[in-house]
Amino acid sequence: MNRTYIGDLSSHAGETVCIKGWVAVRRDQGKMVFMDLRDKSGLIQGVVLPNHMEAIEAAKEIRTEWVVAITGIVNKRPEKNIKAGVVNGDIELEITGIEVLNKSETPPFDIGSDTREINEEIRLTHRYVDLRSDRMQKNLRARHKVIKLIRDELDADGFIEVETPILTKSTPEGSRDYVVPARLYPGQFYALPQSPQQYKQLLMTAGVEKYFQIARCMRDEDTRGDRQPEFTQLDLEMSFVEQEDVIALNEKLLIKIVETLYPEKKIQQIPFPRLSYTEAMEKYNSDKPDLRENKEDSNLLAFCWVVEFPFFEKTDTGAWTFTHNPFSRPKPEHVEWLMNKENIGDILTTQYDVALNGFEIGGGSIRNHDPEALKKVFEIMGHTPEAIERNFGHMLKAFGLGTPPHGGIAWGLDRLLMLLQNEPNIREVIPFAKTGEGRDPMMQSPAEISVEQMLELNITSIKKKM
Ligand code: ASP
Repeated sequence: MNRTYIGDLSSHAGETVCIKGWVAVRRDQGKMVFMDLRDKSGLIQGVVLPNHMEAIEAAKEIRTEWVVAITGIVNKRPEKNIKAGVVNGDIELEITGIEVLNKSETPPFDIGSDTREINEEIRLTHRYVDLRSDRMQKNLRARHKVIKLIRDELDADGFIEVETPILTKSTPEGSRDYVVPARLYPGQFYALPQSPQQYKQLLMTAGVEKYFQIARCMRDEDTRGDRQPEFTQLDLEMSFVEQEDVIALNEKLLIKIVETLYPEKKIQQIPFPRLSYTEAMEKYNSDKPDLRENKEDSNLLAFCWVVEFPFFEKTDTGAWTFTHNPFSRPKPEHVEWLMNKENIGDILTTQYDVALNGFEIGGGSIRNHDPEALKKVFEIMGHTPEAIERNFGHMLKAFGLGTPPHGGIAWGLDRLLMLLQNEPNIREVIPFAKTGEGRDPMMQSPAEISVEQMLELNITSIKKKM
C-alpha cells in the first residue's frame, strides 16, 4: 500500500491507509494500546483495539522513537472527543497492522518537551534526535522558507547566485582566519573565507552587476551567545548603485519576509528609521539600538538603519584601523580628506548597518573602486607598499581593469532567524551548531589527526603549555 502522510489523513476518513514515521508517545492500557505517531507532516493518535491480536502483541513491544510502518483505518472521532484547533484532532487511527522498521534505544532526552530546558551539550551530542522535536523542526523549516523567499525575490529582481571559493587566502581583514595546510605547497596555507567580500567585488569587475549568495563565513573568534565559528550570510553586491538603492532593496526584502512568512509580527515603523552613528551612541549608547516601544511584545520588530560611521578608529597601540570594512568608500564629501590623508578621525564612511531589536543583522557599504583611493586606506593603516601589493594587489589590479562603481551588504542570516523565530540564541536555528566554546560534541570535533596526515601535510604540532 502507498504511504499516506499523516498531515493528509483527514481527507482519508473511512479508508484503510499505511503511514510511516516515529512513535511519539505510547500508552499501554492493558487491553488497548494508544500510540501517537509522527512524521514530517504532523501527528496522529492511534489506538490498537483488543480484536487486532497480532497488532496488540507488536504494540506491547514498541517503545517511543521506534520507526514503524502502520496500517490502519482512519476513523472520525465522536463529537465529544474532537480536539478543536489541533491537526488531526477530529480523527483517530484504528491500528490493524504494525511493522517495525527500526528500533530505538531509550532516547537521551524527551523530545516531546521544550528541549530548550535540556542540557545543551547533551542536545548537541544527539543533535539528530534533538532536531526531531516540534520546535526544532519548525526552526529548520522556517530557515528553508526564508532562504527560499530570498532566492525567489532576488532572482525576480535580476540577481544571480554565484558560489565563491571556500579555500582562499589569508589577508589582514578583520578577524582571525581559519587556515588549511596546502599539502602540495609545504609551509603554505589556504584560509577559509571570513566573508566573500573580495570575490563579490571582483564579480562586479566581472560584469555580473547583481550578485547574491547564501554564503558560509568562518571567523576564528572567541565564541559568544550570538556567534559561531561558522555562520551564514545573505551576501549581496550591486553595480552602479548609491547607498539609497542598496538600502531600499534590502528594506523591501526584509518587509517581504516578515509580511509573507511572519504575518503575526508587526514592524514598528516603515520606512525603517535612520540614525547616524553619533545620534545612536548619544541617545542609546549603542550602534545597534533597540527601538522597540514595547519590549514585552515578542511579535514587535523594530528595524533601523545606522549610517555615517567613522571610517577609522585608533587601535590600542595608537595606529589607525578601519571600523567596518577597508573596501568602503568614504562619504563623497570626505574622499578628498582620504586622498590627502588628513582629518583621518573625522572621515565618515558610506557604511550602513541594519539593526533589529538591539541586534546588528546586517551591514554594508558603497565601495572604494578607485585603486589610488583604496591604497590610501591601507597606507593610513601603516601597511608598507610591499604588504599592500602582497595582500591586496589583485584588488588594485582589478580596479584598474574596468570596475564599475558598486556597493552591497551582508546579513547575518542566523541572527535574523533567531529573532524571527523568537529564539534566545543562534544555535537554535543552526541545524548542526557548535557549543559556545566552538566544539561539535556529536562529531567530536575539533579532533587530533593521525601522524601520517600530519607528515603528509608537512606540519608539526607544538602544544602550548596552558
Ligand atoms: N563583507 C561584509 C561583512 O561580512 C559585509 C559587506 O560589507 O558587504 O561584514
